[in-house]
Amino acid sequence: MIQVGVVGYGTIGKRVADAVVAQRDMEIVGVAKTSPNFEAEAAVSKGFDLYAAVEERRELFDEAGIPVAGDLDELVDTADVIVDATPSGIGAQNREVYEAHDTPAIYQGGEDAEVADTSFNARANYEDAIGADHVRVVSCNTTGLSRLLAPLREEYGVEKSRVTLVRRGGDPGQTGRGPIDDILPDPVSLPSHHGPDVKTIFPDVDIDTLGLKVPATLMHMHSVNVTLEDDADAEEIRELLAEESRLFLIPEYAGIDGAGKLKQFALDAGRSRGDIWENCIWGESIAVRGNDLYLFQAIHQESDVVPENVDAIRAITDAASKAESIATTNETLGMGLGRTFER
Ligand code: NAD
Repeated sequence: MIQVGVVGYGTIGKRVADAVVAQRDMEIVGVAKTSPNFEAEAAVSKGFDLYAAVEERRELFDEAGIPVAGDLDELVDTADVIVDATPSGIGAQNREVYEAHDTPAIYQGGEDAEVADTSFNARANYEDAIGADHVRVVSCNTTGLSRLLAPLREEYGVEKSRVTLVRRGGDPGQTGRGPIDDILPDPVSLPSHHGPDVKTIFPDVDIDTLGLKVPATLMHMHSVNVTLEDDADAEEIRELLAEESRLFLIPEYAGIDGAGKLKQFALDAGRSRGDIWENCIWGESIAVRGNDLYLFQAIHQESDVVPENVDAIRAITDAASKAESIATTNETLGMGLGRTFER
């Protein structure tokens, strides 16, 4: 059993912890938090040992009557691998603690690529993380783009990608980012950070990305244009993408017209927290003009990186091959929203 410690138990950390619990080959040895809030209570009620991420704040947990198993050093020492899901920049600060204990660590997309030996997307470059000491799971948007570009590159070759990312202003719980009522080019000048981030997965890809922020919390939306090297037609591309286990092609008859109905569908399908691990691509948006492919995809920012973290745990500990890990993660989590529509 791989002993996993989660440092930072917020939006991403709590989902990764639950996903680890669903695996047969790994378990949670503890989670580290800074504040004795509702998420700390939830961690304790799930039976996780809770560690104080910052020693000086341990007394806050004592005052709140929340039992603490130890400090960060103790968690890092006990774990075979750490998943660091702290806010951007904290992971880089924590790296020295992981190094001091010789514990391999997985960071999130808010960290600079330099924090790790390699950036990671299971579909695109699982092997690069095998046996590494520090691995960074790329951001939600880069994960969504990497999953899409990987099969297109293999099947047709990609000459150029242009992607406009319409980004949610904040996660549902991020009250500090609101109230908001605006539409912001973000950043105003090209490129948004997403294009360079995709290059940490595919160094040779030619990609321009533009970003906008809108007052929404549910999901991100990508308007994608990919110039392919080889000829293709829309139906062929639909079939190619439908074969990918972490891409969900929304059928036209489903009547899913946006992020709101996607989230409703995920809740109806019994997904915990309404999570959607898959890229959601509108089947009828897939169009080809000459060598140019167009499509729309929605990305659930809070959860699409979760299966990638599980695979990164197996890669960094050299516990399974790419195919084995992806298959196991998919099966244990229940990947495949598209199955609902199969007869
Ligand atoms: P979050 O704020 O929801 O959770 C972070 C947690 O870490 C909080 O519980 C916070 O109290 C805790 N924390 C703060 N300082 C800490 C410290 N020193 N040690 C331990 N814990 C500490 O953040 P999040 O949205 O889960 O983001 C975590 C990482 O995942 C970031 O790198 C982010 O860029 C990345 N990410 C976020 C999203 C998203 O949409 N939320 C998507 C993909 C990747």
